[in-house]
Amino acid sequence: MILDRDGHRCQTCGRPATDVDHIGDKHDHRPTNLQALCGWCHRRKTSRQGNESPNRQRVTEARPGERHPGLM
Ligand SMILES: [Zn+2]
Repeated sequence: MILDRDGHRCQTCGRPATDVDHIGDKHDHRPTNLQALCGWCHRRKTSRQGNESPNRQRVTEARPGERHPGLM
């Protein structure tokens, strides 16, 4: 059901999703607390919850590249 809602796409990386992940409370099974993830992102998220390491990774929004004219 969640996979259908999210179009079978991983909500993190956009690859085909195989897993359903709890966004927040693990005991909250409402659709709003669930998201489709691929196995890789799911494992990554799960392992990160146990071991919180500082990670510089950010989801960068796709934006038309507009370079400052003064920068080469
Ligand atoms: Zn993914």
